[in-house]
Amino acid sequence: MIERSLINDILNGIVVYETLRVYNGRPFALDEHFKRFSKSLSYVGEKVSYKEFLDEIERHLDFDRIKIYGIVNNGVKLYSIGENIEKSSTFSVRVDISDIRHADPFSIPPSFKALGRADLFLARKNKGENYDVILLNEKGFVCEGSFSNVFFIKNNVIYTPSLETGVLDGITRKNVIEMLKNMGYKVEEKMVELKELFYADEIFLTHTSRGIVSVEFLGKYRLETRISKLLSKKFEEFVNEKISGSF
Ligand code: PLP
Repeated sequence: MIERSLINDILNGIVVYETLRVYNGRPFALDEHFKRFSKSLSYVGEKVSYKEFLDEIERHLDFDRIKIYGIVNNGVKLYSIGENIEKSSTFSVRVDISDIRHADPFSIPPSFKALGRADLFLARKNKGENYDVILLNEKGFVCEGSFSNVFFIKNNVIYTPSLETGVLDGITRKNVIEMLKNMGYKVEEKMVELKELFYADEIFLTHTSRGIVSVEFLGKYRLETRISKLLSKKFEEFVNEKISGSF
């Protein structure tokens, strides 16, 4: 039973959150998640200490995924849950372009990671059978999925919408860019036109829960998935290597 005062805080305040992956009992990119959580809290003039954040995380290290929420209303209360996710090796998905436009970054800062964002909620709600849908920004450029960042491959160069497009500074996005550069790929962050997605050799999404997800269908158009499936496997190795070196 949720306390009445907590319901009151949720109804009258706002909830910021982070989702972290746990690999073999170790949280991935803990510092980056704490930094982003702190940034979200900073928009509403709140903060929590690293120890408070870590104490929440450490309660769920036997799960695959941890969600940590900061309920903000006259101060901040932390709440967290651990979840297991269905294990599957590399898989590929269908995505489509959303009818919903991404909120203008001057209305809602992309790095304010809060629950109940109407644009992302409506896009997700209307995604149907698609794994995710891709939102365009207010100027019509490709922005991001409702819970993922978007990449595409064209002639062996890998492109992703730049942060100026209004995308969330995804932690997987950042780590994937690092891995791709280490692998010798040319990676370009830029304003992406919609037609570039339709002419892409391959498309993939990135998000914490699943790492790199190959896109097999963009609407009714079928895409190659060979490179992105390989990259998805490589990313699991990259994460495991980073985690074993990080403690
Ligand atoms: N874009 C949006 C709108 C998101 O909500 C998320 C994740 O929640 C992402 C991108 C992916 O970010 P990350 O890689 O940090 O999980």
